[in-house]
Amino acid sequence: MKEIAVIGAGTMGRGIAYSLALNEFHVNVNDVSPDALENAKEKIEDELNVSASKGYISKEDVERSMENLSFHTNLKESVENADFVIEAVLEKMDLKIDIFKKLDDYCKPDTILATNTSTMSPTEIGAQTSRPDKVVAMHFFNPVHKMKLIEVIRGLDTSDETVEIVNGIAAKLGKETAEVNEHPGFVTSRMNCLIGNEAMNLLMEGVASPEDIDKAMKLGLNHPMGPLELADLVGLDTRLRNMEYLHKTLGEKYRPCPLLIKYVKAGRLGKKSKSGFYNYE
Ligand code: NAD
Repeated sequence: MKEIAVIGAGTMGRGIAYSLALNEFHVNVNDVSPDALENAKEKIEDELNVSASKGYISKEDVERSMENLSFHTNLKESVENADFVIEAVLEKMDLKIDIFKKLDDYCKPDTILATNTSTMSPTEIGAQTSRPDKVVAMHFFNPVHKMKLIEVIRGLDTSDETVEIVNGIAAKLGKETAEVNEHPGFVTSRMNCLIGNEAMNLLMEGVASPEDIDKAMKLGLNHPMGPLELADLVGLDTRLRNMEYLHKTLGEKYRPCPLLIKYVKAGRLGKKSKSGFYNYE
């Protein structure tokens, strides 16, 4: 596994590309948007330079990582030589299925196809391809270069060999894996979305300010980040899609907070739009 393609250069795609490139993989980053690719390239280089200035990596690591990266809008060119593909586009099942059908056509027969979905079924995605044994969910966390876990979710037909290869890549990235049986939201998103949604309900009901809700969770319950600042980091549009999928598949408990819906409608998407539960101007 030397050549890896990452599809989607948003919050997660660029973080995944950063970690892979720093750890000696050749990475083709793909996005339909040239602006997203340009932005990803700049942000990856900035992050690498920050890590170098703090002494975590060397200047040579920065140069080598940037040389390991290439950026493309053409999907076929991005994946035709790839040994492994990680999809990180929007959390929409029809979009993911469309991409996996194309990946199945364009990739070599033994290429493994992973999705970074937070909630959705690798079985459903894999069933649209001729290689469901080589389809798996590989759920990274944000920010990718700092977070230690990758949640690995097998679809019904995912083979042991595929899971072993995923574990091998995770080890090369210095990360731990937790293997989870397929169920909407897996372990982490199911728990985390519920906590975040309850924090939004508390805010909407006027129980406490965003600062005090987050402070209570950090200092009272020892969470490293408050649920509202975490939702802002994830992106409120992404979080809303996660909640909508969990609501549809798991029921009423996961109904998205009306305040979250209102914020997304207003274009307040969290850190990426400079405004969410907090202001980042
Ligand atoms: P994002 O909105 O930041 O980025 C998505 C990117 O996909 C955009 O740059 C968009 O241009 C691109 N895209 C859309 N259609 C495409 C296509 N057909 N081909 C190529 N690129 C396309 O989203 P994100 O927050 O990075 O989330 C991506 C995935 O990762 C989702 O499935 C999400 O649930 C999951 N995830 C997100 C987080 C998080 O904290 N944001 C954490 C774990 C997993």
